[in-house]
Amino acid sequence: MQENIIIADKRPSTQASASWQRQLSQAIRDPATLCKRLSLDESWLPGAATGHQLFEICVPDAYLTRIVPNDPNDPLLRQVLPVIDEASTPQGYVTDPLEEAEHQPVKGLIHKYAGRVLLIASPACAINCRYCFRRHFPYSESSPSRAQWQEALDYLRADTNLHEAILSGGDPLAASDKQLAWLVEQLEGIPHLKRLRIHTRLPVVIPDRIDSAFLGWLAATRLQKVVVLHINHPNEIDQAVIDACTRLKQAGATLLNQSVLLRGINDSVSTLATLSERLFEAGVLPYYLHVVDPVQGAAHFDVPDDEAKALVKQLLEHLPGFLMPRLVREIPGKASKTPL
Ligand SMILES: *Cc1c(COP(=O)(O)O)cnc(C)c1O
Ligand code: SF4
Repeated sequence: MQENIIIADKRPSTQASASWQRQLSQAIRDPATLCKRLSLDESWLPGAATGHQLFEICVPDAYLTRIVPNDPNDPLLRQVLPVIDEASTPQGYVTDPLEEAEHQPVKGLIHKYAGRVLLIASPACAINCRYCFRRHFPYSESSPSRAQWQEALDYLRADTNLHEAILSGGDPLAASDKQLAWLVEQLEGIPHLKRLRIHTRLPVVIPDRIDSAFLGWLAATRLQKVVVLHINHPNEIDQAVIDACTRLKQAGATLLNQSVLLRGINDSVSTLATLSERLFEAGVLPYYLHVVDPVQGAAHFDVPDDEAKALVKQLLEHLPGFLMPRLVREIPGKASKTPL
């Protein structure tokens, strides 16, 4: 398999770039533009159009610039370009593979594991990843208004065993800093909460999201901060991403990364080893390597368990222990992620 690894771009990121909101509003949202911008052969268009009907395209420019034009196998392109395979629905692939709908005691709050709850802080994402297990998620029904947040906050206040609030989505950083700062202020007022965790892909997709407005409230909170990024391939880490990570660390956040093991994108020992190395250069520790959840439309990304385990076993021979991600699967009803 071709590795497609680009040497990190060492140029400083541009100072005068548009605000992240502007960059997000100008993201590519149709198949023809995506194919044209990347000089892709027209034969990709019908598949892209079919997949787009099922889960719309969204690719901001900041991410697009890391994709090599005219290469249908580019590992970043494969994460965002819809293909005809998305229309097939093999048995066992469902719309809510994690059965999250059953674990929402109140709107916008998912409580599956001891000591921590997940809050759906924003229904939106800055990029639409084709393998996403939330591609069928009824977000409009799950993202609370400020009044509705009171119920989630009451739930957190009432359970003194909860020590960690996880902002998730969608992508929580697609919400405005005004909203996020308000929510975090409410969380800070709950004495038994110690940690704020943010699961986000935005610092990778649009590094300018990590701006002074965001860093202001993040640095100020009394809660310990963990930011879990989502990076699948070393080519996603350019200098702008490294700079965003530096800003996050300066604001006091511990940085971790989770990846999804994806057929044709990162299913090789050398790609995974390079990913871990480059994450560490950016100040990020590998956390989880997830196998693909059985969501409709993503079956073509699946790497069988035996192969996944063999890959990770080989990876052990290439990396120090602290750069090894944990290979896990999410099984509905279990009290934690399940190591493979
Ligand atoms: C994955 C997940 C978490 C976090 O699990 P960790 O093992 O702590 O990273 C928490 N809540 C829900 C609902 C999750 O799906
Ligand atoms: S950013 Fe995360 S939640 Fe959003 S589409 Fe990608 S994988 Fe899914």
